Amino acid sequence: MLVPKDKSKRRRRERLKEKQCQFPIPGGDICGIIFYGTARSLYCPMHRHRKFRKFIDKPKDKKEDIGVENQIINHKLLDEQKVILKCSLEGCEEEFKVTLIPKQNIYPKYCEKHRNAYQRERFIQQNQMQFKSLSKQREEDMLNSNTNNTEEDQTQS
Ligand SMILES: [Zn+2]
Ligand SMILES: [Zn+2]
Repeated sequence: MLVPKDKSKRRRRERLKEKQCQFPIPGGDICGIIFYGTARSLYCPMHRHRKFRKFIDKPKDKKEDIGVENQIINHKLLDEQKVILKCSLEGCEEEFKVTLIPKQNIYPKYCEKHRNAYQRERFIQQNQMQFKSLSKQREEDMLNSNTNNTEEDQTQS
């Protein structure tokens, strides 16, 4: 059901309220100055200034910071622990050791050899070439085995 919107209410100016500035100051405190602002305003006029923007804006998403060569491992370890991880590069079976550190979730993703973008690129190319020749070999094998199989099947049954 449609409820007609009360236009007069929407047009009415937002009332200013007494607010406390939420600007974070070093030491975990907030500015706390009382100012008059709309329901949405968080900061006193001084802290609304452009030069304070960078302090207000939320820190960047961690995902952006981990980069391509790292991964997030969620753990709740209280002590360091060595683990063995497999290289994340498709086709690489290499394993590498990583020490999980309490409260740290960002760890390398690739084996030592593949922490270099150039080496990864090279590996992928070699892998593709190998795959192509392998699948070609398989096709030939299939053709050969097909003729063999039919003979075998006949003798078995
Ligand atoms: Zn303030
Ligand atoms: Zn690798």
